[in-house]
Amino acid sequence: MLKIYNTMTGLKEVFRPLVPKAVRMYVCGVTVYDECHLGHARSALVFETIRRYLKYCNFKVTFVKNFTDVDDKIINRAKELGIPWQAVTAKYIKAYYRDMKRLGIGRATVEPRATKHMADIIGLVRALARKGVAYQVNGDVYFQVQKFPAYGALSKRKLEDMQAGARVEVDERKRNPMDFALWKSSKPGEPGWDSPWGRGRPGWHIECSAMSMKHLGKTFDIHGGGMDLIFPHHENEIAQSCAATGKQFARYWVHNGFVQVNQEKMSKSLGNFFTIREIFEKSEWSEDLTGEILRYFLLTNHYRSPLEFSDQGLREAKSSLDGFYDLFNRLKERGKTTGPVNEKLTTAIERTRLAFEQAMDDDFNTPAAVAELQGLRSGVNKLLETGLSTKAREQARQQFRLLGSVMGLFQLEKWRFNVDLSDIGVRGLADEEVESKVKERTEARRRKDFKRADEIREFLKSHDIIIEDRPDGTSRWKR
Ligand SMILES: [Zn+2]
Repeated sequence: MLKIYNTMTGLKEVFRPLVPKAVRMYVCGVTVYDECHLGHARSALVFETIRRYLKYCNFKVTFVKNFTDVDDKIINRAKELGIPWQAVTAKYIKAYYRDMKRLGIGRATVEPRATKHMADIIGLVRALARKGVAYQVNGDVYFQVQKFPAYGALSKRKLEDMQAGARVEVDERKRNPMDFALWKSSKPGEPGWDSPWGRGRPGWHIECSAMSMKHLGKTFDIHGGGMDLIFPHHENEIAQSCAATGKQFARYWVHNGFVQVNQEKMSKSLGNFFTIREIFEKSEWSEDLTGEILRYFLLTNHYRSPLEFSDQGLREAKSSLDGFYDLFNRLKERGKTTGPVNEKLTTAIERTRLAFEQAMDDDFNTPAAVAELQGLRSGVNKLLETGLSTKAREQARQQFRLLGSVMGLFQLEKWRFNVDLSDIGVRGLADEEVESKVKERTEARRRKDFKRADEIREFLKSHDIIIEDRPDGTSRWKR
């Protein structure tokens, strides 16, 4: 029985779709203004795996994943590059498909774009205005959060606390600092569509409500995304959708955890930021190899836990996969007998299948599922020592392929064992990044924050950088 952790209730709940045997699922996709990074890779892979497992369980899955193709970030990027905003979105949608192909991630059932759903978006904003939960100020339309008593239910925040925490320089046109834009008036030269409030464009949140309800209905089963979307994005989606329909919106809220590099959140300013492209193009490995290693690495972590990205982690994934493919090669050899299927093997396979399903049923516990496959790997290796028939070998091989396919693993015919493992994806720190860390550490020591100072020393050590402290309180470093 499949159980899913629901962010809304904070509980693992038995999964029962609204329509038996059919699952309707919406996942927030990317804003197409830049290359996808590791965080996007993780989210895409998590929901692809969930979709595959639901299919494995014989559910019919309708999977909707959007592209945000009109947004401030896109407009700014177009200005930076001096090209039309449509050229920015076209470029990064193409880049997105290139990366997803490398990661072995297929297309969703529907991949709606905001710009192609303007009538639906405007219709939803109108419905909210008609119900008196939205108001217009000079061509902008805001959602009035005070009119939606359940606001904050997903992120477990209270409206009063949020108001108190809001900055002083709030937009005076808003009735409450937490009110958010459903529609924004467009300046000349910006993308815009005609609406009852003048020429404008949608706020970010409204598109997901409009597109999910259009393709999946007012109430659907699973809504997913990264944890960073819980607030405000998903909170606002709920407010808009429920206020408009008077019905429940999504029934199970599923969120994946962050990606960290050396225990820090991945971010451009920290210099520990990796795009998917960088990992594939910097790696000495071939694309199919890199894709499988990355999938294996990402899925040996539970989707809700923070994920620690490291060279070491990728190396371990490679070495574990070497072990699997080595076994598959041995299974491909002719058996020494032509006897029937081995009984011990059949038992081991059946036991693994059940344990694998149990792990996946427990909130998609992929690390536990992979551990079961590793167990079967050693079991079959042992049985090979005593000899397995050709038929039995094929049976074992098929089982690995079948269960592996849930995670996109074990499908390659040819595996490369001997490849250079020295420089994979994680690049070393640049001199100026090291300098800034050393400076931060010196300051930490000066204010006697030795815990922080040690953390930074460890961080640099993990990048093969050694710090030497001098008696005058300064430090020097070397690679
Ligand atoms: Zn969304």
